[in-house]
Formats: sequence, C-alpha cells, structure tokens
Amino acid sequence: MLAVLRLFFYGLCCHYTARAGGRRHHHIGAWSRFQWHLAVHLAVVRSLLQATKGYELMWPTDPDEFESHVKAPASQSHEDAWYFLSVDGQMVCAAEHGVPRPVSRDDLRWMDMDLGDEHFLGIYRGRSCFALEGKGQIPEGYAADNLFSWLGRVEPPLFYLAGRAQQVIDWHNSHRFCGRCGTATADHDADRAKVCPECSLVCYPRIAPSIIVLVTREDEMLLARNANWPNGMFSTLAGFVEVGESIEQTVHREVAEEVGIQLGGLRYLGSQSWPFPNSLMLGFHAEYAGGDIVCQQSEIAEARWFKVDDLPNIPPATAISRWLIDDFIDQVNARRA
Ligand SMILES: [Zn+2]
Repeated sequence: MLAVLRLFFYGLCCHYTARAGGRRHHHIGAWSRFQWHLAVHLAVVRSLLQATKGYELMWPTDPDEFESHVKAPASQSHEDAWYFLSVDGQMVCAAEHGVPRPVSRDDLRWMDMDLGDEHFLGIYRGRSCFALEGKGQIPEGYAADNLFSWLGRVEPPLFYLAGRAQQVIDWHNSHRFCGRCGTATADHDADRAKVCPECSLVCYPRIAPSIIVLVTREDEMLLARNANWPNGMFSTLAGFVEVGESIEQTVHREVAEEVGIQLGGLRYLGSQSWPFPNSLMLGFHAEYAGGDIVCQQSEIAEARWFKVDDLPNIPPATAISRWLIDDFIDQVNARRA
C-alpha cells in the first residue's frame, strides 16, 4: 500500500514539476528543457529510492559508509563534526526539515551545558562523529528525544550511530571502576576497552545477543502476541542467548519454551543492532518440524499460524521482525508466480 502511495506521489511530482518547468522555462531551448526535466526526474527517483530502500527496507547487512575508529586519524578535521549528545539518556538533536540530526560543532559552541568526556566513534561520509554526554537544560531550539523516536525518521546509519553513541556512553559510565578489585580503570591504548591498572582486567562494551525467528509451515507463518504489546500486534519469536549456548541452540530452546514446537531447517538471514539497551538481534527462518502450539503463559498471550495474505497487525518496516516476515512473503509470492 505504501509503495502504491509513493508511486502516486511520484506521479504527481512528475506532473507538477514538468508543468512548472514548462512554464518557468518556456524561454529556453528544447534541449535545455529536456535536461532540466531529466534532472528533476532523476532527483525524484533518487529520493524515492532513498525513501523505499534507505529509510525503511535496508537490512543492516548492507555497507553504510561508516568507518569505525577508536582514535581519530591525525589528518582528520573535526570542524564539521557531529556530536551524538546524550542528556539523561535522551539524544539531543537539532531538526532539519522536521528530521532530527546530531548536534554540530557549531551548535555545541553555543550550548551552555556541562559536558563529559568525548568518545570518538569514527567517520561517517567524511565527517567525524563523537559520542558525548551533557548535563543541564536543553537549550532552546533543540529537542531531546529517546533513541527509539529516531528509528524510521533518520537514515538507518544515523540511527545505528546514535545507538552506538548511547551504548558507548552507558558502558563508559558503568565501567569507571574495576568490577573485580574496585580500582579506577583507564582507557585501553588501542581498543575500545577499559583496563584495570591494578589487576589488568580488560572490559569491552557489552552486547547482549538474542535470536529472532520466523517459524514457517508451507505457506503459513507462526506469529505470537505478547500481552504487553500495543494494538494486539503479532510478531516473530525472540529471546536472549544463554551462556554456553550456540545461537542455533537458542533458537530451538526459545521456540520450544515459548510455543512448544520443534524446528528443522534453520536459516540465518541477517542481524540488527537493537540499542534498547544493548541487544544484537540475529534473525532466522525456521521450518516447523512437529508439536502443537502450547503458549508459555508468562510471555505469550496468543500464537497462531497466519497465511501471507491474511496477516494481523505486524511490526513496522524498521524492525528485523518485519524484514523476516517480508522476506517470507516474497518467497511465497515467488513460488506462486
Ligand atoms: Zn582490577
């Protein structure tokens, strides 16, 4: 439906830009007019592609023009740097045409805030990126939003960078002292890590891996509803990896625990960093192999098989659960074609 609306909008854009171009440029030659129309069409097609591919449907397995560095290369200028500024766990941002963007170096010069340590994250499209924590009042003209509100409103690499910044700040704040002997830690020389000068314990930022799986049976998919989710939304099954488990074992265990069925044919599709607060979601498709649905009462309110053309309310296109669902719908449609 969204795609249809976009095409309709694109049609309108073409119609009106062509008309406007025709009127405004009636004094110029046919060749120039053709070039002008071509430029407008290309610009609209580019923004359309960004809107469909860039903002919503990109799997984070695609490269994203970000170079990770713990320390800035000596040649790197910070004049146009972006600061992912966190205040009380919220991202401070300026708005550009209604779209949040990180605080610039210039913005920062005018802000009257207590600022913590800068953490260099790396370089995005040539621009230095820092994580930074601030304390105090958010200056007028800026907004402090929770990270979740950036999802789907900014280009995906920017959302993941903001998530990276928040996780680095949280980790920095919770590892000021050694967890083993209590001595104040120091930054590692080369890695993003904290080192204890007393007992040599090294601590890296912690990531919590979890699995997310779409179970399928012929042309149907198994979706479940958590009692706490909004609007009766159904989604894929998910759960955290336990120590000592392989990722594949987690998939089998979680599905058996949550809905009581057995699986075969596991297939890994991709992953999504999910910084709420520090997950990495590893996405699978799995085939039903046996058992009847028995819901784990503490977690699952309802679980059912759904046909691809009769789906309930499902997650938005910004979440890996939706990409797993959409991928399966594409497979079924391809089989039917
Ligand atoms: Zn120690």
